[in-house]
Amino acid sequence: MADRTIPSSPDEPFPLDPAFPLDAVRAMPKAELHVHLEGTVDAPTLLTLAERHGVAPPADDVAGVEAWYRFDGFPMFLERYFTVLGLLRQPEDFAIVAERYLTRAADQGAVHVEFHVSATGHIVEQHKAWTPLLDGIVDGCRRAEAATGIGWGLIPDVSPHLPAVACAEAMEVVFAGELDHVLAVGMGGPADTWTTDDFRPIYDRARSLGIPAVAHAGEHGPAWEVRFAVEEFGAVRIQHGIGVMQDPEVVELLVERGIACDVCPGSNLALDAVPGVDAHPLPAMLDAGLTVTLGSDDPPMFRTSLLREYELAWSMAGLDLDGLARLAANSVEAALVDLAPIDPAPIDPASIDPARPGAVGSADGNDERRRA
Ligand SMILES: [Zn+2]
Repeated sequence: MADRTIPSSPDEPFPLDPAFPLDAVRAMPKAELHVHLEGTVDAPTLLTLAERHGVAPPADDVAGVEAWYRFDGFPMFLERYFTVLGLLRQPEDFAIVAERYLTRAADQGAVHVEFHVSATGHIVEQHKAWTPLLDGIVDGCRRAEAATGIGWGLIPDVSPHLPAVACAEAMEVVFAGELDHVLAVGMGGPADTWTTDDFRPIYDRARSLGIPAVAHAGEHGPAWEVRFAVEEFGAVRIQHGIGVMQDPEVVELLVERGIACDVCPGSNLALDAVPGVDAHPLPAMLDAGLTVTLGSDDPPMFRTSLLREYELAWSMAGLDLDGLARLAANSVEAALVDLAPIDPAPIDPASIDPARPGAVGSADGNDERRRA
């Protein structure tokens, strides 16, 4: 089912459904709060990096790398994701990747991006120095900001398949460095290993420095992971969180505290976190009153984009334009920087064809579409 929804190549025509109000959604100011810097390395960039460093790429051409970016589950994804991490070596590597992605995001109407960065992956697993790496990211982000006006911030992530003590030491390196652009600390990957007390000191230490917590939770796992992240780590936002619908009490916890879930339907489909489009809990999450934002997670790896995530949500949940605008507004409100001066979702009615399903004021089923 995923193959019917996700294009086989980033070059495939978009939107998949011509009824999707693409121009209106592009025009909505939006933030992307769940995207991994390293996961934005597209096939041409990967080939460039491999050539630059004299490393044999995993495939010889763009089509081959795109085929390599197909996974039969999370372990295979993680293995290849870390292969990509290994190709990011020099500050300019990080700068190019950051600049390219922010430029693409700005073209999709993003006004602010919060990049997750696999800090412990680079520091612990690949023995890289943090400061040059961070300098490269900041340079690239500043170049894109100067060209497009887009805002940005960074979320250094812990990779929980690494030992907690080593991760804590690595995060001390992060904390000792420049913190101006660090918006939060995060936890990436599956929760097989982090639902213990071992990783909590990292979050406690971050909190002592005034740095808030976010965490991946409830992606492939159950609702209690989400509760754990909120209660033990103090998470103020959850990445994915789709498992939350298994437990009404955890749903209530998130609703009461106004904790947003940064949901990535394309990622969930690509990594089989849900068995198919119809099984995705996004509509139920919206019905339950949860605050949902949309992110592309690792877009070229999952053959998606921020705008395609809006199309997927539109399709899954039967959203009208107000519903789509609500998701965009949620992302602005849930950002870890104050984006209040941004006008919420200006839509030029002249740009909308009222005959199209889903358009403002269209009579053909718009009534059946809903607000998020
Ligand atoms: Zn993620």
